[in-house]
Amino acid sequence: MQFRDLKTQYRKLKNRIDEAIIRVSTDCNFIMGKQVTELEKKLAGYAGTDHCVTCANGTDALQLALMAWGIKSGDAVFVPDFTFFSSGEVVPLTGATPVFVDVNARTFNIDCDKLEGQIERVVKEGRLKPRVIVAVDLFGLPADFARLREIADKYGMYILEDGAQGFGGEISGRKACSFGDIATTSFFPAKPLGCYGDGGALFTDNDEWADLLKSYRVHGKGANKYDNIRIGLNSRLDTVQAAVLDIKLDAFEEYELEAVNDASRKYDERLKKIVETPYVPDNMLSSWAQYTIKLKDRDTRDDLQQFLKSEDIPSMIYYRKSMHCQDAFKDNGYIYRDEDYKVTVELCDRVLSLPMHPYLSDSDIDIVTGAVKSFLARR
Ligand SMILES: *Cc1c(COP(=O)(O)O)cnc(C)c1O
Repeated sequence: MQFRDLKTQYRKLKNRIDEAIIRVSTDCNFIMGKQVTELEKKLAGYAGTDHCVTCANGTDALQLALMAWGIKSGDAVFVPDFTFFSSGEVVPLTGATPVFVDVNARTFNIDCDKLEGQIERVVKEGRLKPRVIVAVDLFGLPADFARLREIADKYGMYILEDGAQGFGGEISGRKACSFGDIATTSFFPAKPLGCYGDGGALFTDNDEWADLLKSYRVHGKGANKYDNIRIGLNSRLDTVQAAVLDIKLDAFEEYELEAVNDASRKYDERLKKIVETPYVPDNMLSSWAQYTIKLKDRDTRDDLQQFLKSEDIPSMIYYRKSMHCQDAFKDNGYIYRDEDYKVTVELCDRVLSLPMHPYLSDSDIDIVTGAVKSFLARR
């Protein structure tokens, strides 16, 4: 059994994908071929934004957004404590200071009350200026953007939606990657929409920012890439990746998003009486980057993972270590207080992600849930 089965997906889409890759090889338009601009149009249409700007990966996408806003030393950027490292890593790269915020125990997304508390603390200390809220759509579930927008307006801040795991999610029928002032996603192969290497994209309705992002991703280009008007990055999406994504986006729209939601319902039915299953608010749709259950405590979680492994069932722990505990953020001059991050620290001990992808069969779901049940019954 695969944790995320990319081989079955390839077998299903093989004819179209092979043909698309060969076309790029034949045309030799490896960088910025027309497939890239075509994909950007298609992605913007899907997300419902005016612009999509592709780039080399989801981490660069976050960095490019902060660069376009001119985020710099003396600025505070608020980031959930429970997320992948990238969401915070990009902040010191701009010279700004990441301020981590605890998450909601049910949604795993940023806790808006605690966010206000952390913003107030920064305002009171008077050393940093609150500028950006990084709202991560963790495990495929959109963050609480209604509430986040109120907070951002109140303090005059931008929302950067980190939709690396959130592509395809919805709030009241509106698509993820359209909620931030700028939103980003990642096309790393294991993400909800993945390519065959690294890739990423930014989404925005703001014309000026879209132009800035296109400049920053190609060495801060002006009229062309040999006319350089700002310091940028080399962060383009390869034509091969765009060609693959064009085909995979069709499959994602046509049946994959529905298939992962089917799988999640089957997991829920079989597991809801014995473990804490994922929570999805009524008006939201998840794109199920992960299906993550909560066990009683760390020992139960670790022993269950060991047991699943002995049964050849893959599982993952996202995440073992909270952001504020990462050594990389130790010397940035901001004091993180452990008591501010109780929920995240507990989640790091209790979460376990089970195999989840659009090609997961009913019998695989039975095998996984059967193993979880028999482990907990014996415990
Ligand atoms: C994967 C991921 C990223 C980074 O994407 P890459 O394409 O791997 O650089 C950023 N944020 C979150 C929440 C992620 O899961």
